[in-house]
Amino acid sequence: MRLSRYFLPVLKENPADAQIVSHRYMLRAGMIKQQQAGIYSWLPLGLRVLRNIERIVHEEQQRAGHIPVLMPTMQPADLWRESGRYDAYGPEMLRIRDRHDRDMLFGPTNEEMITDIFRAHVESYKQLPMTLYQIQWKFRDEVRPRFGVMRGREFLMKDGYNFDLSYEDAMHAYNRHMVSYLRTYERMGLQAIPMRADSGPIGGDDTHEFLVLASTGESEVFYDAAITDLKFGDREVDFQDRAALAKIVEEWTTPYARTDETHDVALFHKIPAERQKTSRGIEVGQIFYFGTKYSEPMGAKVNTPDGEVAVHMGSHGIGVSRLVGAIIEASHDDRGIIWPEGVTPFHCGIVNLKQGDTATDAACEALYAGLRKKGLDPLYDDTEERAGAKFATMDLIGLPWRITVGPRGLKEGKVELTRRATGDSEELSPDAAVARLA
Ligand code: ATP
Ligand code: MG
Ligand code: MG
Ligand code: MG
Repeated sequence: MRLSRYFLPVLKENPADAQIVSHRYMLRAGMIKQQQAGIYSWLPLGLRVLRNIERIVHEEQQRAGHIPVLMPTMQPADLWRESGRYDAYGPEMLRIRDRHDRDMLFGPTNEEMITDIFRAHVESYKQLPMTLYQIQWKFRDEVRPRFGVMRGREFLMKDGYNFDLSYEDAMHAYNRHMVSYLRTYERMGLQAIPMRADSGPIGGDDTHEFLVLASTGESEVFYDAAITDLKFGDREVDFQDRAALAKIVEEWTTPYARTDETHDVALFHKIPAERQKTSRGIEVGQIFYFGTKYSEPMGAKVNTPDGEVAVHMGSHGIGVSRLVGAIIEASHDDRGIIWPEGVTPFHCGIVNLKQGDTATDAACEALYAGLRKKGLDPLYDDTEERAGAKFATMDLIGLPWRITVGPRGLKEGKVELTRRATGDSEELSPDAAVARLA
């Protein structure tokens, strides 16, 4: 992408109403525009990051054997009357009436609708296990929308639902989700710690929240420092192998890690004192097992050799749009964002220090073409801005690598390759720079 042809409305000033760094940088880097409280447009740079996060979530869900679907944002109230949640959900639900006076709502979550799909089409236990998921916009009329996309009213969520014949099968689904989430967050450059949580209005027994440690997080968390040493890394997992998954889950759920809702002071104090940690955390996902809470009242049953059985279910969410903010909270400095490679909107930036100079322009064009040929996606700053402003923009938007091209270096056949995270620079030939990034 050529910056001169792109739409990157960077702000010079700090927006006054943004209280936390991720919100500030997302506005300044021209990633989002607020349209109403808690409702945002995604501008091109922000959309690229959002799409990268979605892609990782899709890949990891499908690796775990889960099947994508897409349900509407608008739901009929009658479905929610069947489960009893239409009245129970409260003012976070946006209720709408159509021209025929039918009650509708903008979905805050989809347990009812997915259960309706299941009961319409699945009859035999032989079709189980089954996990369906989607990535779709949700609406929750939050009392205090704030921190930009971190607590929006309209937000993008991955929500998945497992249908199983027994408690044991449903716990395998639970473990599949936990392990796939560990992989998912690590690919985004994040450490998200699974913590025992409280089930709240969705109801149920087993639930873990995934929290990213950050001082601006809204949850108070307590954990054993040992858990932050765990890495998923590139281990191979067979998502069908129950024992292998259970072992990984055990590894991550043995060290103490809880939110304030389930915190147990006595248990916590059994950890060696130097490992007792208290912090703030951002909730980036949650997994639930809730058994037959929806299948029973809504009649989601399958035939088995022993008769009809209400399916055991769970639901599993990832805060896709919140993750954009959470990643920035976890990875930035005082000049701007530092994107992890997995989600960066462009792989690298090319800064032309003397736009209009024939040799410099030609070298930049050659680099741009060379990187694209390798399948990389560079952002080429071919504008007339002065060097200082170009550097400031590149630092703000946080691409992992910058190649700086100017007449002085070119005389020696060199460009400069700089790593955003460390600021380390190296002079090398344009070809070597391309080879290094590919
Ligand atoms: P919170 O405790 O932050 O209100 P939640 O527990 O109500 O979140 P869930 O129902 O567990 O949310 O939804 C799954 C995920 O969706 C959450 O883990 C979070 O990452 C994301 N999410 C929830 N509410 C919002 C919101 N208002 N804006 C952005 N993301 C959200
Ligand atoms: Mg909530
Ligand atoms: Mg919560
Ligand atoms: Mg939650």
